[in-house]
Amino acid sequence: MAVMRLAKEKEKKKKKEKTIRPDCETCQYFDFDEEYGDYVCNMMLDEDEMVRIMEHGAAECPYYRFYDEYTMVRKQN
Ligand code: SF4
Repeated sequence: MAVMRLAKEKEKKKKKEKTIRPDCETCQYFDFDEEYGDYVCNMMLDEDEMVRIMEHGAAECPYYRFYDEYTMVRKQN
């Protein structure tokens, strides 16, 4: 019984790992635009790239970079 539960938990964990995808909110190019009043992508994406990202999410974006605050601060100093 315990073995079956462990196997199920392992399977659940695998599924969860597969579904975790990067999204624009964690990307360093996703910034607040005061004129627009919302967060927008600062990369110049062409129409095909925008359609692909809207359909499949940021996981399909070739420009995605994880926003790491510590790295950004290090570059500024
Ligand atoms: S570069 Fe790609 S992942 Fe980053 S904000 Fe723009 S569309 Fe989203």
